[in-house]
Amino acid sequence: MTKKEHILIIGAGLCGSLLALQLTQLGYQVTLTEKRPDLRKAKLAAGRSINLALSNRGLKGLKLVGLEKEVESLCIPMYGRMLHNVEGEPQLSKYSGREGEYINSISRTGLNALLLDKLETYPGVEIQFEVTCTDVNLKQANASFKSAGSDSEYTLQADYIIGTDGAGSIVRQQMEKEKGFLFSHSQDFLTHGYKELTFPATKTRDYATEKGALHIWPRGENMLIALPNMDKSFTVTLFLAYEGGTYNFNNLTSEAIVEEYFKEVYPDAYKLMPDLKTEFFENPTAPLGTIRCSPWTYGKTLLMGDASHAIVPFYGQGMNASFEDVVEFDKALKETDFDVDAALKRFSEHRKPDADAIADLALDNFHEMKSHTAEEVFLAKRKLELDFEKEFPKDYHSKYSLVTFREDLPYSKAISQGRAQDLVIQEMLRKNILKPEMNLQEKLNLVREVSKKAEENELIFDL
Ligand SMILES: Cc1cc2nc3c(=O)[nH]c(=O)nc-3n(C[C@H](O)[C@H](O)[C@H](O)COP(=O)(O)OP(=O)(O)OC[C@H]3O[C@@H](n4cnc5c(N)ncnc54)[C@H](O)[C@@H]3O)c2cc1C
Repeated sequence: MTKKEHILIIGAGLCGSLLALQLTQLGYQVTLTEKRPDLRKAKLAAGRSINLALSNRGLKGLKLVGLEKEVESLCIPMYGRMLHNVEGEPQLSKYSGREGEYINSISRTGLNALLLDKLETYPGVEIQFEVTCTDVNLKQANASFKSAGSDSEYTLQADYIIGTDGAGSIVRQQMEKEKGFLFSHSQDFLTHGYKELTFPATKTRDYATEKGALHIWPRGENMLIALPNMDKSFTVTLFLAYEGGTYNFNNLTSEAIVEEYFKEVYPDAYKLMPDLKTEFFENPTAPLGTIRCSPWTYGKTLLMGDASHAIVPFYGQGMNASFEDVVEFDKALKETDFDVDAALKRFSEHRKPDADAIADLALDNFHEMKSHTAEEVFLAKRKLELDFEKEFPKDYHSKYSLVTFREDLPYSKAISQGRAQDLVIQEMLRKNILKPEMNLQEKLNLVREVSKKAEENELIFDL
């Protein structure tokens, strides 16, 4: 069935490219615009994550457009967190006790290219690269663009505009300008930034460390993580404060001090980074922030993906959430019998609480990943949860599993249930309530019963 409306999508990153594909498949006339060159032909500018963790909510979006098989060849499964403490052997903490639950490391460029390649197989779609949107008329659904290398502007007229132009969204800025105080907008930066580094492949063309895990070096106020790439390298990300503490981005200013820092804090990782000193000074340091806004729609325009809800990367969910947006928008269109005006409103009202929930959780996980992952109670909780998931795969899902592997649950539900469980188990472990003489089923029954009450706020925590 052909839909007559013309939809202009601004931003051909991960969200915009998937959205363009989904709307094209539904029969809409789509124009997709992007300020950067076609990433299949040009090298991606440094400063954005090279690889990402793709999990069930993102895969659900790819399945919607029929790419679930094709994407497999780009994925490297990661079965758990490999924790590297300063002393001792690294320890794998699996993501789930159930078989077949893992996340995937995937190249950002590879995934975006897959979406664009598929999109181009539809003859009616128009994709314009190297055109920067400079202005948007939200009510009239037209936007002005400037082509690279030219000063002249041109206008594209559509029936609707969807802004998938990322955290610095010009479409969002226009909404703020027009709606004034009726548009709520917040932007909160962490005191930490990030920098990407590399473990290259070994001389024998192998991975420098275990391939099937997301590696974490939790060090209190700073942290290193590493995800595998197809070329047998790892992309390593350093999360560090801009100021304060012994070492920070502002005082790591010479090769000698960078070397001293890594040798002292990340001795095993240091040995795997022959290009550390060059990369550290060549690669950019970028900030990390959370953007919230409301409403996401005005006139004939909608915001989606990072443009409406940029989150910090500590739950590996930003892209996954953006892909799930596309699934939710598809649902809204179908539920409103393809009344696009109604679907814009329905999508933004229904989706906002879930975007807020994952934004909060990603911030919580920042603190968990840098410190708690190495604490005794956290490790004991993980062990108990993995035992529950293994023995009772249908009856128990940890918070991580609820958020990452239960794509059938909205984020808000997954997070409220997961948080209640976390609190209850940690408290029970600290107070020794889960006695050694109890069998696993009895422990599970108690955890479930108390967690349910905690989630419903029936229980003020007094175990
Ligand atoms: C360090 C880091 C690690 C991350 N790791 C993960 C992870 O493991 N898993 C995960 O799920 N998520 C992760 N994310 C989050 C993920 O990168 C984002 O959520 C995702 O890229 C959002 O996609 P998007 O299409 O909404 O925005 P973007 O990817 O930012 O795309 C926006 C596009 O719009 C274009 N654009 C911007 N302005 C204009 C304009 N005026 N005119 C035309 N085009 C324009 C941009 O060039 C860009 O191509 C990570 C983020 C960071 C920073």
